[in-house]
Amino acid sequence: MKISSFLFSGLLAIHIPVVPASEMQEQVTRVQETALADNTAWELLESLTTEVGPRMGGTPGDALAVQWALENMKAHGFDRVWKEPVSFPYWVRVSESATIVSPRNQPMAVTALGGSPGTDGPVRAEVIRFADLAALEAAEPGQIEGKIAFIAKRMQREKDGSGYGAAVGGRTRGPFVAAKKGAVALIIRSVGTDNERLPHTGTISSTEPGRPVPAAAISNPDADILEAMLDRGGEVSVELALDCGFEGEATSYNVIGEYDGSGDTGTFVAVGGHLDSWDLGTGAVDDGAGVAITMAAAKLVAGLPVRPRRGIRVVLFANEEQGVYGGKAYAQAHADQLASHLMGSESDLGSGRIYQFRSFVSPEAEPAVAELEELLEALNIPWSRDRQAWGGADFSPMRALGMPVIDFNQDASAYFDLHHTANDTLDKVDASDLRFNVAAFATLIYWVAGSEITFGPVPLER
Ligand SMILES: [Zn+2]
Repeated sequence: MKISSFLFSGLLAIHIPVVPASEMQEQVTRVQETALADNTAWELLESLTTEVGPRMGGTPGDALAVQWALENMKAHGFDRVWKEPVSFPYWVRVSESATIVSPRNQPMAVTALGGSPGTDGPVRAEVIRFADLAALEAAEPGQIEGKIAFIAKRMQREKDGSGYGAAVGGRTRGPFVAAKKGAVALIIRSVGTDNERLPHTGTISSTEPGRPVPAAAISNPDADILEAMLDRGGEVSVELALDCGFEGEATSYNVIGEYDGSGDTGTFVAVGGHLDSWDLGTGAVDDGAGVAITMAAAKLVAGLPVRPRRGIRVVLFANEEQGVYGGKAYAQAHADQLASHLMGSESDLGSGRIYQFRSFVSPEAEPAVAELEELLEALNIPWSRDRQAWGGADFSPMRALGMPVIDFNQDASAYFDLHHTANDTLDKVDASDLRFNVAAFATLIYWVAGSEITFGPVPLER
C-alpha cells in the first residue's frame, strides 16, 4: 500500500511519514544498495570472533566482549555508548566424559549442559531410554531409580527452525523431571540437526523449581550407537563424569549504543543481538552474526547524508544463553520508557537469508506495515501478516510490556547443524548472506526512524 492511500483511510494522523513516500523509497533503495556492498558486518564479526572468541556469561571472555563492544561502538561513531549491569549465577565447566562401559567399551563425544551440577566423580549406571520428554514424564519412578535416563528425541530440520522448539524441552526440563523420578543423571541426544561427532550444549531451565540431576548431551552419531546397543536388548551401562556447576554470582553488562536522530529526541528504533555465546565455538553464528548485522545496519543509516529524524539504539544483551538475563534486566530497567521504544527487533538466528517478516504492532498501526513490505520488496521479503512476531528472546520481555516488534525470519535450515557446538566458527558464515541481513535491518531502521508512525503500545490482551 502506498502512503497516498493512507491519506484517504482516516488514519492520517499516524501515517504521514516525515520522509515523503517517494523519497522514502529512493532513500531505502540507496540504503539497500549500500548495504549489499558493505563489509562492515563481516569486519565486526571477524574482529569479535578473532579478538574475543568464546564469551560465556561471566567468564573472562565475556568481560572482554563487553570491552570490545564499548570500544567498537565508539569507533563506529555512536553518539552515546554505555553499559548496564546484569547479574546471574556463574556456571563453570571444567571437564566432562561419557563412556559406554557395557556391553563393550565405547567413549562418546559429550558436553555438559549449561546449569548442570557435577557428578562428584564418575557415576556408572544402566541406561534407560525414553523417546522424548513426554515419555520420561509418563514413566513410573520405579523404572528409573538409580539409572541414567536417556532422551533419544531427534531434532527435525526445518526452514523456520521449528524443530528446535519441539526438541529442546528434553534439554531444559528433562534434568528436573529425571531428578523427580529418581534418576542419577540424564543424557540427551544433542538438540541439533547434524551428524557430526560434536555435541550441542545449551542451558537447562533457569526457572524450573526443584533440583536437576547432572545432565549432558551426546553427539548424534554417539546417540545412534547407544540406541543400536539398546535395540539389541540386555543391559547397556554408561560411565558419566561431569565436573561443572555454579560458583556464586557474576555480573556482566548489556552494552548499549545510540545514534541520535535529526529531529525527535528521546524516541528510537531498537535493534540488537546477544553479546554472550557458548564456550565451545567462537559464537560466530550465535550470536556474533546478530551483533555484527545490527551494529552495521545502524551505522549505515546513521551515516546517510541526512539522518532520519528519530534515533537508533543498538542493544547487545548479556547472558541470553543461560536464561535471557540481559533481556530481563533491560526490560526491568527500561519498563518506564516503553513509549521511547518505537519498535524492537533482534537478530539471533545466525546469518541465513531472510525469507519473510512478521509484525506485532497496535491494530491501528497494522495497515502501515504494508509500507515496510513495499520497501522490502526489492529484497524479496514478504510480510507474513500473522501478527506472531516475538522480537527475539532478548526483546521478548519488552514485547510482553507492549513494545511493538518486527521479526525477520531467516532460513534456519543449516543453523542447527552448528548451534552451540565447537563448530560455530567464522568460516560457516557467508559474507554475502551477512550483507543481505544488514540490508533488511537497515531498511527497517530507516523506515521506523524516518516516519512518524506510532506502532504501539500493543494491547497486552492480543
Ligand atoms: Zn542466540
